Order: sequence, then structure tokens, then C-alpha cells
Amino acid sequence: MAQCLFCQIISREINATIVYEDERVVAFNDINPQGPTHVLIVPRRHIATLNDLSEDDDQMVGELVRRAALLAKSKGFSASGYRTVFNTNRDAGQTVFHIHLHLIGGRSMHWPPG
Ligand code: AMP
Ligand code: ZN
Repeated sequence: MAQCLFCQIISREINATIVYEDERVVAFNDINPQGPTHVLIVPRRHIATLNDLSEDDDQMVGELVRRAALLAKSKGFSASGYRTVFNTNRDAGQTVFHIHLHLIGGRSMHWPPG
């Protein structure tokens, strides 16, 4: 999608600090980090929200989640803990409509979230 911010990051039209990429998945640092590490893990293919996933996407969603765990391990906080979040639509505060898994780590966090 030409006007999608994350599609533009994936195609390198907009700069971001990319920390991982492969054929299906890209991960880059959040511009407004909520912890010492805050990475967004996205599929290369544009999908607006979790509501738009189909059965064909199950493998890709698994890759997003497992990539978060691998990045947490490489950052050194897999044992101490981390937060992984998909925000969906208005009530969750989704602002970019290209699905992204937030990986936040490096500090202790509270539950429930605000
Ligand atoms: P969400 O509220 O779940 O839709 O999250 C969108 C995230 O994208 C927020 O955490 C923003 O800080 C982040 N963000 C917005 N613009 C950029 C950008 N240009 N590069 C990296 N992250 C961004
Ligand atoms: Zn997109």
C-alpha cells in the first residue's frame, strides 16, 4: 500500500533502524520507545489489522511471535521478561493500520495496561 507508513519503511522510502529482515518479516526500532528496547515486528505484506488475517496467514503470525522471542533472547532479556502486544482498532489505540507486534523489554512493567 503506497500511503502506508510501515509499507514505506519496508520499501526503504522512509528511514527506520531495521534490526532484522527476511523474506516475510521486517523488524525495526519504534520511533517513540516505551522501554530500553522497543521493536516493531511486521509482515512485508500489508494487512491492516488482526481482523483481516486469514488461515493462510497462520505461518506468518507464528514467525512474528517467534521472531519477538528470538530478538528478546539476543537483547538478553528473555529470562527476565518482556511484553509483546498487538493493538487492534480504536479502543486499543492502534494508530498504524499495518499489523505490528510490539516487543518491549529491558525494564519491569505493570499489568493491567492503561
Ligand atoms: P500502534 O499504536 O499499536 O498502532 O503503534 C504504532 C507504533 O508505531 C507506535 O509505537 C509509534 O511510536 C510507532 N511509529 C510511528 N511512526 C514510526 C516511524 N516512522 N518509525 C518507527 N516507528 C513509528
Ligand atoms: Zn502497510
